[in-house]
Amino acid sequence: MADVLMVETETFAFQAEINQLLSLIVNTFYSNKEIFLRELISNASDALDKIRFESLKNKSKLDAQPELFIKIIPDKANKTLSIIDSGIGMNKAGIVNNLGTIARSGTKEFMEALQAGTDVSMIGQFGVGFYSSYLVAEKVIVTTKHNDYEQYIWESQAGGSFTVTTDVNGKPLGRGTKITLLLKEDQLEFLEERKLKDLVKKHSEFISYPIYLWTEKAAEKEVSDDEDEETKKEEDGDVEEVDEEKEKKSKKKVKEVRNEWQLINKQKPIWLRKPEEITKEEYASFYKSLTNDWEDHLAVNHFSVEGQLEFKAILFVPRRAPFDLFDTRKKLNNIKLYVRRVFIMDNCEELIPGYLSFMKGVVDSDDLPLNISRETLQQNKILKVIKKNLVKKCIEMFNEIAENKEDYAKFYDAFSKNMKLGIHEDSQNRAKLAELLRYYSTKSGDEMTCLKDYVTRMKEGQKEIYYLTGESKTAVVNSLFLERLKKKGYEVIFMVDAIDEYAVGQLKEYEGKKLVSVTKEGLKLEDDSEEEKKKREEKKSSFENLCKIIKDILREKVEKVVVSDRIVDSPCCLVTGEYGWTANMERIMRAQALRDNSMSSYMSSKKTMEINPDNGIMKELRKRAEVDKNDETVRDLVLLLYDTALLTSGFSLDDPNTFAARIHTMLKLGLRIDADETSGDDADVPSLEEDGNEESKMEDVD
Ligand code: ADP
Repeated sequence: MADVLMVETETFAFQAEINQLLSLIVNTFYSNKEIFLRELISNASDALDKIRFESLKNKSKLDAQPELFIKIIPDKANKTLSIIDSGIGMNKAGIVNNLGTIARSGTKEFMEALQAGTDVSMIGQFGVGFYSSYLVAEKVIVTTKHNDYEQYIWESQAGGSFTVTTDVNGKPLGRGTKITLLLKEDQLEFLEERKLKDLVKKHSEFISYPIYLWTEKAAEKEVSDDEDEETKKEEDGDVEEVDEEKEKKSKKKVKEVRNEWQLINKQKPIWLRKPEEITKEEYASFYKSLTNDWEDHLAVNHFSVEGQLEFKAILFVPRRAPFDLFDTRKKLNNIKLYVRRVFIMDNCEELIPGYLSFMKGVVDSDDLPLNISRETLQQNKILKVIKKNLVKKCIEMFNEIAENKEDYAKFYDAFSKNMKLGIHEDSQNRAKLAELLRYYSTKSGDEMTCLKDYVTRMKEGQKEIYYLTGESKTAVVNSLFLERLKKKGYEVIFMVDAIDEYAVGQLKEYEGKKLVSVTKEGLKLEDDSEEEKKKREEKKSSFENLCKIIKDILREKVEKVVVSDRIVDSPCCLVTGEYGWTANMERIMRAQALRDNSMSSYMSSKKTMEINPDNGIMKELRKRAEVDKNDETVRDLVLLLYDTALLTSGFSLDDPNTFAARIHTMLKLGLRIDADETSGDDADVPSLEEDGNEESKMEDVD
């Protein structure tokens, strides 16, 4: 053929992670292979959304192919299955990048998830759905045409590389993408009409573009003798009308195979139907087609708002958090925005606040202009009202979920951080969101408690809600800060999520009751009897001198030293200023790689040491300090007490080596080893008092 142009074929290597993913898909057995079709149809639908959106501003974008459709062609003779869309198509860079050389953030996560036993059908959620083709195909050919570029062919049998060729000789697509799968020998069932219809019904029923299946029908046809048999095969035309009214002369019956395009999905958007007419299964299947989730949703709310402004919406709460819930590199795009049935976009940040970005669903507005641009979205008043309504509905849904303990536990496990982020961000709904918080507490047992229940359990006369922040439940249950509160029967809430520090900082109070940190200054327990109060005052004054001595020893390490109201057993603790960071917050801030150091200098905790006048160690210290206020032992012990208090109060040690050295000296003392006997690392250790050594030496002699 003279007009066949020779074209160069370029070969590319798959990016390493994608290559790994491909061999995992090709070589591992997964039973759920059928999901490849859903993924390819969903990609086709996305590509159609994109061209439709572009055409809203410029109608001529549709010229090359005015119809928007998805077509499926099973070809038994060649064992291929093709999925064609008249979507936006791809240019060369698009194919090379999207289909092989640039790793998606989800690639690695998906492989990890697979190895941890996640179902392969999750693939779409990780943004690598295209590669599911290799579950059933040994070779994939992608032909694609973007309005402004040439037609290209991408081809690969996995195995490390793919090729891209400019398609100068192939049949023009007009615009769009055709994905042809050369099916593996054992996957030929995907050429069966019945199977394909079922799969589209099961996974892709709610795709809002027509899906046509190229079907075969065996029929008997009467043909006149003089007429040539004419079987029309049309692969790229419109739905064929079969003309049955023919002039009848002399006729004979012939068997023929007739092909036709059959529409196999309903496209009436589910949100336009009446909620009472929609079954649970239909919502579930819509949810799955929307999200690529393989599990049903946890809750759904289908509603319409009427009046000054009209819109319809369906919102879903998923059962699990997505793998990249708080990945700031990726914008979550879970609420699809439609304007009068036309898809506009799926990553409209003005539609739902960040903390609710895990919600899925659709919103169809009657009032927004079709040609709304990203720039005008921000100022749009209608969107603001829609957003307000959506937030209200979301919170209503969460409250409904909360009526069922088991469901709520699941929900809270997945999305508690979002609720807390909401407390931090959304001042208007803060009070409502506070109702949704759950915590363990000193009285909650194995189940979490809500603030409302805490309030009903408050002691008579108790005016404040007490909480303790820390790294984990285990780290706080035995905290010394709980000693007196527990003894007195006050309940203390454990806040052990990093985000709790931020949330509680904003929440400040619940039902008019102040939230008070038990590790900060200003904790006043006012249920002592007059007699007890008097006793405390006496103790305070008798320990005043020791406080001064300790402050002199610790110098700038602490702001002040006072007699404690909150500890019962421990010798001392370190508390922070009412408006500064807690020890826990200091830990969180230190862990933030990009934090601004200048902040920490004034926010980082100004510590107050509180000492326990009833503790034996403190009593002994006071005695010794009275005899000689420059006693070396007192100095050493105070430093050691300070370091241990850092630890028990949730701080980290400034200088772990010196601390270890002091402990070692103590151990030697306990083991009666002469401090001078040992060599090496402990040589510079500030010695613990000589007395003790002498005593032990004397005992040795004994
Ligand atoms: P995802 O669709 O989640 O982004 P995929 O692996 O399924 O991930 O697809 C990768 C990319 O390839 C898509 O984001 C899109 O840019 C492109 N792509 C895939 N299929 C098509 C198609 N039918 N038409 C146009 N572009 C497509």
